[in-house]
Amino acid sequence: MGRANPFRALVAGLTADEFLLLREAVDERRCRDEVGVGTLAEAAAAYRPDPKCPGCGARGAWRDGSTAAGVPRWRCRCCGRRFNSLTGTVLEHCRKPLPAWVSFIRLMRHNVPVECAAEMCGVTHKTAFEWRHRVLATVSGYQDRIVLRDTVWVDETYINDTDLSKGYGQARKRGLSRQKLCICVAIDVHKNPVAVVCGHGKPSSARVREAMGGRIAPGALLIHDLERAHNALVRDGGLESEAHRADVNDPVYLERMEMVNDLCSWLKRYLWRFTGMSPANLQAYLDWYVYLFRVNQARDRWDPTARVVRHILMADATYRSLG
Ligand SMILES: [Zn+2]
Repeated sequence: MGRANPFRALVAGLTADEFLLLREAVDERRCRDEVGVGTLAEAAAAYRPDPKCPGCGARGAWRDGSTAAGVPRWRCRCCGRRFNSLTGTVLEHCRKPLPAWVSFIRLMRHNVPVECAAEMCGVTHKTAFEWRHRVLATVSGYQDRIVLRDTVWVDETYINDTDLSKGYGQARKRGLSRQKLCICVAIDVHKNPVAVVCGHGKPSSARVREAMGGRIAPGALLIHDLERAHNALVRDGGLESEAHRADVNDPVYLERMEMVNDLCSWLKRYLWRFTGMSPANLQAYLDWYVYLFRVNQARDRWDPTARVVRHILMADATYRSLG
């Protein structure tokens, strides 16, 4: 027998409407305890206290009331534009309370299927799909800021267009056909990953350079297989090169390439969860993977959900659904 719960009888006696209100209040409280803010208004106050005008970029706008959700409205001193604190973020048109979004973000951290997220958050499949793409929009270009250092592994991994759109193992062609999308992957000794779409089929030097150029600090040691296209990276960046023939029976190859081989297999397992995605969205999903990889690495120091919520509130990003 557990301790008597003094709220049990009280909750059992509520009407349906009262119970809904109680749930809302409880969700708000829990959200506040977990990520520091419980409502959109609190989030706006914490992360966007002096938002810049989405029209002209000026700060110091005049207060101009609040939205129905209590988010401050503003009027720009320079151009007169009216906006609210969340205008220009992916939460701009949000009609659900913040806790629903935070639950959704928590599920997205675990990359659950859209239909599961929709059910858990009480939204339609279409809304969940839209929310996912809004979150993805906040990490677009995230990898542009990453520079790999010291010891860096690089490799290519391939995925069939049809694996993405129709499911793994469907309509496969053998060999390295033009049907295969190339993903250039790299990771450094500090466990910073990079994953960039690099066209179809085996990449040329120019394509590898475009994908990875500027992402590896000069003078680093590059550990890779004998892919000739990598030589462009070695030359351009003044890198040291350690090349191994790709041979799964060679223990030295396996040991020296383990870091990047592991990354390739984690990445594939991740991508297979999103069967049905358009190959056009592949880079967005890779950006999200790399973003989460870094968030999870720091999980002991910073609660991952709270960190992603903060990121989403501070990011200027919009996503307009096509449907
Ligand atoms: Zn303005």
